[in-house]
Amino acid sequence: MGMTMTQKILAAHAGLPEVKAGQLIVAKLDLCLGNDITAPVAVNEFERCGACKVFDKSRIALVMDHFTPNKDIKAAEQVKRVREFANKFDIDNYFDVGRMGVEHAVLPEQGLVGPGDCVIGADSHTCTYGALGAFSTGVGSTDLAAAMATGTAWFKVPSAIKVELTGKLSKYVTGKDVVLHLIGMIGVDGALYKSLEFTGDGVAALSMDDRLCIANMAIEAGAKNGIFPVDDVTLAYVNGRFKREVRIFEADPDAEYESVVKIDLSELRPTVAFPHLPENTKTIDECNGQVKIDQVVIGSCTNGRMEDMRAAAEILKGRKVAKGVRCIIIPATQQIWLDSMREGLFDIFIEAGAAVSTPTCGPCLGGHMGILAAGERAVSTTNRNFVGRMGHVESEVYLASPYVAAASAVTGYITDPATL
Ligand code: SF4
Repeated sequence: MGMTMTQKILAAHAGLPEVKAGQLIVAKLDLCLGNDITAPVAVNEFERCGACKVFDKSRIALVMDHFTPNKDIKAAEQVKRVREFANKFDIDNYFDVGRMGVEHAVLPEQGLVGPGDCVIGADSHTCTYGALGAFSTGVGSTDLAAAMATGTAWFKVPSAIKVELTGKLSKYVTGKDVVLHLIGMIGVDGALYKSLEFTGDGVAALSMDDRLCIANMAIEAGAKNGIFPVDDVTLAYVNGRFKREVRIFEADPDAEYESVVKIDLSELRPTVAFPHLPENTKTIDECNGQVKIDQVVIGSCTNGRMEDMRAAAEILKGRKVAKGVRCIIIPATQQIWLDSMREGLFDIFIEAGAAVSTPTCGPCLGGHMGILAAGERAVSTTNRNFVGRMGHVESEVYLASPYVAAASAVTGYITDPATL
């Protein structure tokens, strides 16, 4: 029986001719990642187990993003702990204020992950790098501690679901709508511990920002990872930024899939996930103008990239944020911030009455920079809308694309951007 794309990457990193779903393996890692919440725990475990050196200082990334710039004393102490560790071992890829960005936006942008890689991160949305044709997945802090010492991690090889994409997206329909639609179809446990392998001629028409957004939310269907084939879009993206060898893996023609999900991209509509699960999806036609909102957040590792900033600006240009609505826009990295500023997008945002933040996760996990009070509702381009995710347990989060979020900011209700 042939192997899926994920299984081929895992076999290669385990030094095995083949692997099968369910098999336990130990694989070499190309990179391991921690952030300001998970890395302090990993650093403690690293020291507790007596490790005295890291496996490779260029293959560890420590990104201070969740509560930074430090929101309180605890956050400051956590970052200090990681900063001291990074200094001690001269970690090349330590990202802090001034060099900051949301981890899953920073790593691809800086060329630290690429096709064929095997990557773990102590953060559930590490699955984002599957957009580049890498195997990447979230782990716990103790796994990160072991990985920083040994450069390896153990995995149970996942089985896979094939997601066949055909057609092209219509105006105002984005990667966010694709992944929300998929999660709406299969549910938040629809891909539990499986790979979501995206294939089909529809892939070619998806931009890298669309793919990063889709792979980012694979975990919201319970997937071990999401992965895209490496094509011209991938190679154009990594060319000039990814320093290691590009390794292209393809699924065997006789690879085994547990099921096949077919999505015609041309049929998709802007999609919104209602509280309190990403699977509670409605098309914009089912909810346009029906839900009054208090806040809009445009940013995060899901939708804080350049295309997202441009989509928000396209909607907000010459318009005003509705009275009583707070619109918070957070470019995901310093580079995206700079590019947005140079393109004049900040003029559009500020003139519309939005606030622009330095890169941070901030409100995405109810950390800072826009916490919701009881009874408040937000439209957010982030990836989770669980109870209390962005603040009070009686607040509500509606997940949507930057187009829908910006249009909703203008009217004060969840809004179809095409109706403005
Ligand atoms: Fe996690 Fe949100 Fe930060 Fe992404 S932006 S890494 S989902 S807290």
